[in-house]
Amino acid sequence: MTHYFRSNVEAMAGYVPGEQPKPGTPIIKLNTNENPYPPSPIAMDVLRTLDSECLRRYPNPFANDFRQAISEVLDVPQDWIIVGNGSDDILNILVRACADLDRSVVYPMPTYVLYRTLAEIQPAKVVEIPYPDDFRLPIAELVAAQGAITFIASPNSPSGHVVSTDDLRILASKLTGVLVVDEAYVDFADETALPLVKEFDNVIIARTLSKGYSLAGLRLGFGIANPSLLSGLFKVKDSYNVDAIACLMGAAALRDQTYKNECVAKVKVSRAKLLLDLKQLGFQVRDSQTNFLLVTPPKSNANDLYLALKERGILVRYFKQPGLNDKLRITIGTELQNQSLIEALIHLV
Ligand code: PMP
Repeated sequence: MTHYFRSNVEAMAGYVPGEQPKPGTPIIKLNTNENPYPPSPIAMDVLRTLDSECLRRYPNPFANDFRQAISEVLDVPQDWIIVGNGSDDILNILVRACADLDRSVVYPMPTYVLYRTLAEIQPAKVVEIPYPDDFRLPIAELVAAQGAITFIASPNSPSGHVVSTDDLRILASKLTGVLVVDEAYVDFADETALPLVKEFDNVIIARTLSKGYSLAGLRLGFGIANPSLLSGLFKVKDSYNVDAIACLMGAAALRDQTYKNECVAKVKVSRAKLLLDLKQLGFQVRDSQTNFLLVTPPKSNANDLYLALKERGILVRYFKQPGLNDKLRITIGTELQNQSLIEALIHLV
């Protein structure tokens, strides 16, 4: 390394994004929890009929067209919404605004790895609290840590479990810092903590169009919170963090709830089928309220199985992390993709 970087940047490993197949290789990509179905056709029409004027100008700094759509669909006032370049941007803004070496970032483990990376870049103090085996929220430990930011992914990745709104309510009432409920996978779940933002001004809900709405490539996410919490975040965000195309397409996709709900329903049916098929092959599989399953292979080594699947053109996610290194995370694909996965596994386990 060189002298160019701050010591925390030199020391950190950096976030490793999900593996991308080489262009041109036929692959079944079940490693980064993308939706297997295309985005809303109405959103795609926006792209085809784009007015050049909207690209000549800078976009609206608050992505107001998109905020308007969120406000209509989720029934929250527009000034309770902050829009980001993916929900990662919202998480990043939160760490920039709230955390430092005296103001900690706290989260239960295992969870989304980016929380740690963002804290390391800042740099901010990190407190990681292990989930127990049954994935009940360790409320007492989280309260004792009193983070400037507490991140709870619900549904969580990679476990796939939802944290109950009752538990989050208790946590919110006992924290003096910000509670971030990261609902990236909420479209596949039975429960949302959204009502909490009306009850607590220290709660922010982070959402994305990457999963339920099949728009991971567009990079669009948002946060919902009391305007008193958003005011500090608006100071920290880039002026034009969301481009004009994302803003318009996102608004159309969000308003097309019928299409999104159809895609989500198909994924949920496939999730139930894949879970059964994997169990029949001897895998241990956790119930999931997301578009992925966390599985433990019957006897084969998880890393070997990941490599063997990759050789057969199927990418799944292997975590080199204590507590997870005997497991694979598998995104729910189309029926055909899931069938190919099962056929490959029959020969491998
Ligand atoms: N939160 C969680 C828990 C995730 O798994 C992801 C996807 N990697 C994100 C947030 C970020 O999603 P995006 O930036 O695409 O909105």
